Amino acid sequence: MGARIQSVSTDGRAVEQAAACLRAGGLVVFPTETVYGLGADALNPKAVARVFEVKQRPRFDPLIVHIADIEWLRDIAAAFPPAARKLADRFWPGPLTFVLPKTDRVPDLVTAGLPSVAVRMPRHPLALDLIRQVGGPVAAPSANRFGHLSPSTAEDARTEVGEGADMILDGGPCPVGIESTIVSLLDPNPLLLRPGGLPLEDIESVIGPLARARHADERPQSPGRLLRHYAPRTPLSLVSAVPPRADRAGAGLLSPGPVPEAGGFAMVEMLSPALDAAEAAARLFSALRRLDAAGLSRIYALEGPERGLWRAINDRLRRASVRDAPDEIPG
Ligand code: AMP
Ligand code: MG
Repeated sequence: MGARIQSVSTDGRAVEQAAACLRAGGLVVFPTETVYGLGADALNPKAVARVFEVKQRPRFDPLIVHIADIEWLRDIAAAFPPAARKLADRFWPGPLTFVLPKTDRVPDLVTAGLPSVAVRMPRHPLALDLIRQVGGPVAAPSANRFGHLSPSTAEDARTEVGEGADMILDGGPCPVGIESTIVSLLDPNPLLLRPGGLPLEDIESVIGPLARARHADERPQSPGRLLRHYAPRTPLSLVSAVPPRADRAGAGLLSPGPVPEAGGFAMVEMLSPALDAAEAAARLFSALRRLDAAGLSRIYALEGPERGLWRAINDRLRRASVRDAPDEIPG
């Protein structure tokens, strides 16, 4: 049966109980503004090991550590370069993760043996409240089985990892809906490791042009960048134009905005009628889950424009479209 969903709006003590559970080494599913996370005390290797088991996540894929107070960085990051400070001043709490050199306090399991740690201060009030009540960093990857779609509702998280979690906090649908943007600050030149919920353009407005990780660069850092990732079970093709009628029978269409002529598809999901990227990101994973549950022969996903939050949406769809190279590491 697994963990029961506890609605924070109707259960006044739910967050307190969840904090106690995490402090005792338990696993708690909780909402952040990006997606639902499966949390564990980041400084408790046994609890962190359970996260890997429940997610069936390979040990080489490190976790993001969530904090509620910038002072906590002292404990877990061995350096906080000026670029990180500028970005944190502007965008924390928010959907931005830094990769920084780690201290000895952070268990190797959390960072998959890397000398660096990924850290984020989430903006979701419930996540912040929970982490503050835990009183220390919470390691939390997305609350899904490895390689699957990230959950943006408590119900989707329960479907994915409910069996293995001790508690599930329901704070409603995630407002951003797509994972955080990851920036490495290990070198003097900041490096974009994963596009995500904070647009690249916003980051560049504060620290100037960002280098992008090429696949070959990414290998030792392994962010959510396995070639095939964030994937539905139904084969998905990323396309730049709506496929011809002959290909539509039995297939579904995922479209960024309105399409002039979409007759013949078995199902159509439109992410945002006004082509608003924030709305589209917030709806992406639930739309993909609906398409995946509809028994379609194929999902055609129409590319969005390569700017702002659409970049992160296109990135997820690109990874979801890789079929024949499961778990392959590029580079
Ligand atoms: P998830 O929370 O499942 O979206 O995954 C978070 C992503 O952050 C993973 O893909 C990790 O590989 C990435 N990440 C975590 N720690 C590091 C690190 N030290 N260096 C680079 N990427 C990291
Ligand atoms: Mg994930």
